[in-house]
Formats: sequence, structure tokens, C-alpha cells
Amino acid sequence: MNSTQLLAEVNEIFDKDDVSKFRPHINYFIAIAAFCTAFVLLETIHVIAGGDKTLMLKIFAALNIIFIAVVFGLYSNIKKEFRFIRKNIRKSNRNRGDRKNEFMFDVSYKSEFIIDAETIIKSNASINYALVHYDLNKFSIINNSVGYKKGDEILRQIGKVLTKSLKNEIIGKAEGDNFFVLLEYEEQEKLIKRACEISDKIEKMGVWNKLNLAPVVKTGIYFIDNENLDVRVAIDKAYFAKVNLKSSYKSGCAVYEDSISDRMIEIKTIENDMHKALKNGEFVVYLQPKVDLQTGNLSGAEALVRWVHPEMGLLSPIRFIPVFENNGFIVDLDKFVFEEVCSSIRKWIDSGYNVHPVSVNVSRSHFTSSNFVSEYRGIRDKYRIADGFIEIEITESVVFSNKNESEIFSVMRKFRDDGFEISMDDFGSGYSSLGLLKEMPIDTLKLDKMFLSNIEENNSKIIVSNIVNMAKNLKLNVVCEGVETSNQVDFLKKIGCDMAQGFIFEKPKPMDEYEELINKEKVNYYKLAI
Ligand code: C2E
Ligand code: MG
Ligand code: MG
Repeated sequence: MNSTQLLAEVNEIFDKDDVSKFRPHINYFIAIAAFCTAFVLLETIHVIAGGDKTLMLKIFAALNIIFIAVVFGLYSNIKKEFRFIRKNIRKSNRNRGDRKNEFMFDVSYKSEFIIDAETIIKSNASINYALVHYDLNKFSIINNSVGYKKGDEILRQIGKVLTKSLKNEIIGKAEGDNFFVLLEYEEQEKLIKRACEISDKIEKMGVWNKLNLAPVVKTGIYFIDNENLDVRVAIDKAYFAKVNLKSSYKSGCAVYEDSISDRMIEIKTIENDMHKALKNGEFVVYLQPKVDLQTGNLSGAEALVRWVHPEMGLLSPIRFIPVFENNGFIVDLDKFVFEEVCSSIRKWIDSGYNVHPVSVNVSRSHFTSSNFVSEYRGIRDKYRIADGFIEIEITESVVFSNKNESEIFSVMRKFRDDGFEISMDDFGSGYSSLGLLKEMPIDTLKLDKMFLSNIEENNSKIIVSNIVNMAKNLKLNVVCEGVETSNQVDFLKKIGCDMAQGFIFEKPKPMDEYEELINKEKVNYYKLAI
């Protein structure tokens, strides 16, 4: 019998012959036994003292003795039962303790956590419990960069931090870096604070400094409101609270709310379907033209991925990219998009089209992989694409929210050394540091569409024109995203912005439609009278 079965069996015993049911019987038996013993003693004293020795009294005394024997027999049986249960529980706990160390990485451990958690919740109905899910962002990438041994060591240390933070509570572990804890609480606010403090402790583990890593710990909390709840549902809900966290680059704690349940179902579908989708060619690359603001000519494009989902239809990247950034799948998807772009450029060159540079987006997840640049260069070389045809877009959050910009800069430099251009995407959307701009190894600055939203205001005009001016002085190309009106086009032209991308010219379009554009003589958007 393995220990899981044993534990299940012990739980069974508890369910069937609830220990608490024994107690009144034992007390009852003890009371009768005490009464009978006292009676026999009185009888004996009475007889010794020379009292009557009637037949009735003798029979009664004999019955008393038998009754006492039966009571004691029963009592010792019950005690034996207790001892058996206790021994099994101790044995089971000991086995579990061993397994925790031995099978720290055993996926099946989650199932034991579920059994334990359900037993605890059911047998302590007066206590409030919350299911808290801890997850390290992109652990697979950490594993890739520091090696599996060190990755295991990190997980072991997280396990220790969590175990030390628990009172009478339990911890479980599922695939990869997913940990669950069942925490008791009195007030929800205090539980949230406690859960976040535990996450802080994980972030402050010494191992991160040793390995030069900046951890991102995501925490999802679900307050269990029903003692008969299937703990798997609580795990799912805590997980989805975590996935729903806004930024994938910052640590954070989130509490599950019913409103995220639709999104939860969508995320689950997305995660279930993503691998199959990549195999089945459901991801398609759209291209959005960029326009030279001085001439009005088409001068480049950005590759933007779409998912043609068999049931959900055409999905915008906003719906699935954050999920993939959370679970690491973005690395595979970005590579796919990159390869699609390379093979298309090769086809266009071979077909004699007007080939313009294409930019591709890459996520932060790539930066911890030591062969990021060489892999991309390998793919580019496979399609024999010359320098200058491909630009890598890195969003500003990748650089500015990172403790170690110098590492990100060195990857960017490697790309440039290998003939890629680098573009800083979404500049101005929140993280930017103008001070760092002069040190950044980039070729292009892409102003976020947010800059244009208030462009009618004088202050916004001053800010945008100064940024463009500064970028030009730093010899950077400036592209403005999200251009939607001719007023915006006029203003951007006036302040010397080089290129624009936006719905006023073209929306992102399927590859074949983009090919029609570059197959023509020369596309001039000013002549097309936009
Ligand atoms: P992004 O890289 O900043 O791309 C520009 C986004 O602005 C695109 O949204 C584009 O359709 C949208 N846009 C362009 N012109 C206008 C306009 O005039 N008005 C407005 N309101 N929007 C405009 P999209 O295609 O939905 O992509 C959203 C984001 O998803 C992208 O922002 C990028 O961060 C991410 N993304 C898209 N494809 C990929 C990919 O292959 N890999 C990665 N890592 N991220 C991607
Ligand atoms: Mg972009
Ligand atoms: Mg952008």
C-alpha cells in the first residue's frame, strides 16, 4: 500500500467512525465502570463488616464484576482502535515528510495536497481558509539560463521559505514552479498582506543575487467560501487571479473575483490550444505599413501576429500575448513570427518586389536565454537575408523595468553587431528614462500612440517636438505609432518625425495584401490622398 492510499484509508476511517463519536461512549463506559467499582467496594466493605449476605446481593455483585470486565474489554478495544489510527496517521505523516524532500519535484504531489486540504477544510468548518498560488515568472527561462540543477535548488529554497512561513497550514507543489498553500485567516485584508509578505521573502532569497537574476513572483489568492468546495476549483481560481495580473514583468498579488471568470475560461482555452495552434498554422502574421513622412512613400512594416482560432475566430494579440508572456510560450511564438518574416522577405527578394525593412516584436522572456541572438541570426542566415532588412522591436518596459539594463544593452549590442537594427517600442508609455536614452544601443525610437492622444494641447506638442528633437540629435530614427488624423500627420511632419504608422495610412493587413502593395511600382500615401 503506498502512502497516498494509506492516507486516504486513514481519512476514510475518520469519515466512517469519526473519532469524536467515540468520546461520549468512552466517558459513558468510564462512568458506569466507576459506578460499578464503587458499588462492589461498598458491597465488599458491607460483607467484611458482617452485613447480610443475601442471594440477591451476591448475584448483583457477580453481575457487577462481569459488567466491569465487559466495560474494560470494550474500553481497551477502543483504545486499541485509537492507537491504530494514531499510528497510521503518524506513519502517513512521516511518509509524506519524506516524500516532500524526496519528491520535491513530483508532479503528483498536487493530488496529495488536494486530499489534505479538503480534509482540513471540512474538519475545521469554523476556520476561514484561502488558497494561495505562488508562481515564478517564466521559470523555464530561468532554468534555461542557469541550468536545471540550479533551477531545482531555487525551487527547493522557495519550498523552504514557504514552509517556514506556515503555521498549522499545508503546502503543495505542482508542475514546474507552481506552489500552493492553504492559509488560515480571520480578515481578508490581513491574509492578502501576509500572502504578499511571503512573496517578498521569495523575492529576497539570497540565491537571486548569487545567480544575478531579478525574480518576478506572482501571487494569486482565492478565499474559500464553502467547506465542501472541490479544492481543484480553488487552485484554478487562485491560478487565474495570478494570470490576470496586469503586468507580466512585475511581482504582484491578485485576489480572484467572479468578474474574471469569463477571462479565466478564455485563458484556459488559450493555454490548452496554443501548442496545437502553432502546429496547425493557426497563428498568422499581419503586416502594418510604415510611411516616410517627408515623401509619403511606404518605407517599412511591422509584423503583428494574429490567431485564427477555430472556435473563437480572429484573436487580437492583446488577448493572447499577455498569457504567453506569463507562461513562456511567447518565445516559441516570436520565433515563429520571425521565421515567417524571414521566409517572406526571401520570397519577395526572389520575386523582385520592392522590399522594405520589417520590424518584429520580441518579448522580455528571450533576454534570459544565452542563445537568443545566435538563434535569430541562425534563422536569418537560413533565408540569406542581408543586413538592414530586419529590425527588432523591444518595448521600453523590457529595458526600464529591469534591474540590470547593462545585460539587456549587451544583448541589443550583439544584435546590432550581427546586422539587425534595434527599435525601442512604445517609448513614453510609462517606464522611459530620458537619461538612459543616450546610452541605449538603438537605431529607432517608436513613440507610443499615447503621445498623440492629446496632441491638440499645446503642452503635448511641446513635449513631443522636444523628444523628437532630442532623438534626432542622438542620430535616432523616429517613428510615431497610432497616427489616425491628417492633423497629426501635419504636426509630425513639421517637427521632423521620420516615419508614421497608423490607421490613417493602413491597418495591419494579411501577408498577401501587403505583398500586393510592394508588388506595385511605388506606393505613395500622399498621392493616394489619405
Ligand atoms: P505594438 O508592437 O506597439 O504594435 C502596435 C499596435 O498598435 C498594434 O496593435 C497595431 O494594430 C496598433 N495600431 C496601429 N496603428 C494604430 C492606430 O492608428 N490606432 C490604434 N488605436 N492602434 C493602432 P496589435 O496588432 O493589436 O498589437 C498589440 C501589441 O501586441 C503590439 O503592440 C505588441 O506589443 C504585441 N504583439 C503583436 N504581435 C506580436 C508578436 O509577434 N510578438 C510579440 N512579442 N508581441 C506582439
Ligand atoms: Mg511593436
Ligand atoms: Mg508599439
